[in-house]
Amino acid sequence: MIIGAMNNPHKGLIEQIHLFGEMNFDYAEITIENPHARPEYVEKHKKDILDALSSYNLGTLAHLPWYFSIAHPYERIQKAINAEFVHAFKAAQLLGAKKITLHSETLSPSIQSRESGVKNAISSLKVLHREAMNLGLDLLIENLDAKSMSIKEFQTLFSEVDMGMTLDVGHAHTAKGEGLDNYLKAFGPRVRHVHLHDNMGVNDDHLPLGAGKMDVKKAVETLKSKYDGTITLEVHSDDPHYLEYSRQRLDILLHGKKRHLDDQNYLYPPGQDPRQKE
Ligand SMILES: [Zn+2]
Repeated sequence: MIIGAMNNPHKGLIEQIHLFGEMNFDYAEITIENPHARPEYVEKHKKDILDALSSYNLGTLAHLPWYFSIAHPYERIQKAINAEFVHAFKAAQLLGAKKITLHSETLSPSIQSRESGVKNAISSLKVLHREAMNLGLDLLIENLDAKSMSIKEFQTLFSEVDMGMTLDVGHAHTAKGEGLDNYLKAFGPRVRHVHLHDNMGVNDDHLPLGAGKMDVKKAVETLKSKYDGTITLEVHSDDPHYLEYSRQRLDILLHGKKRHLDDQNYLYPPGQDPRQKE
């Protein structure tokens, strides 16, 4: 498994890349969005971003803004959104990303029925999936909650668009989520990326691992038995220590405590181990 962290677009991107590097993450999942990580910012600061990533040997994945609809009932509005998606694809490509995730948001049923939402999503994803492929990107769709597509609706989508999936374990654990096991059972190898965070089993809290009610040990065991790839820790807290703790916790759950401690000993030259300073 390869472990990454996602930037908060309201904070400086380069500072956060340094932070992830210091915490020994394997990659940064860069969400290319308003206000401080828009495509224009990435284009302008490409060299500095790539320098920061390479100074820690960090890989790159990318994520698209959550407020971009994929199934707007007004065709011209969806076309304009798709053009913004493609702009973000190009920014992701500049940073060397190969996987890019988008959300499966749908509009409220008072505006659009679920059936027509899925139909509209299929037609825009046909276009977006092809555009992404042409840029060398694997476009992945992420599960959210009841406001997004259900397992059944994802099955309808995948019967028409042969794209991969980002399985968000935290979202699957919310009150209206359908559970990690059911997603893995339904989609197996189509899952090509994972997001992990904890919650209280009701809302989408994005808590550090162990701070909520998820059985994190069991979730990681389940993942390990069916998946081996990138896992992004989506811990939303202003205090980076929670992210660092979650990274250590996940590493121990994946590899055991001995290997975790042994690996730490390879990371720092003598006298530069931050654990000795605290
Ligand atoms: Zn997620």
